[in-house]
Amino acid sequence: MRDKPKNEKQTLRFPANILAPIGKFLQERLASLQRRKKEIEKEDPFKDTSRLLDNASPDTDAAEQFGHARASAIKKELNKNIIQTKKALIRTKKGKYGICEDCGKMIDTDRLAIYPEATLCAKCQAKREK
Ligand SMILES: [Zn+2]
Repeated sequence: MRDKPKNEKQTLRFPANILAPIGKFLQERLASLQRRKKEIEKEDPFKDTSRLLDNASPDTDAAEQFGHARASAIKKELNKNIIQTKKALIRTKKGKYGICEDCGKMIDTDRLAIYPEATLCAKCQAKREK
């Protein structure tokens, strides 16, 4: 049992009974993102080193190029999501989940419901994306 800090009201926090399922959700999400990344890596034709040995026709080459570009794009997006999910997960452990990284205000719960890995409030997110 942890001692309850005084002035609890000064730092707004989600109670543990809410944080626990969020943490679990993020953990599962992270696992599924990492699984998908592995699948994409397998699908990427450039991963297959045996292709270096065969003489692929120009047509196959184009298809491989396309397949590779697609796999790279998806992987990039997945990596971004993985990093973001990890960040949110760390914040649940530190008890800082739902607090904006930039301004320190509570992130709108509607936003968190749609985007549970958010670590920035909508305002700060918009600022960063500029
Ligand atoms: Zn903010």
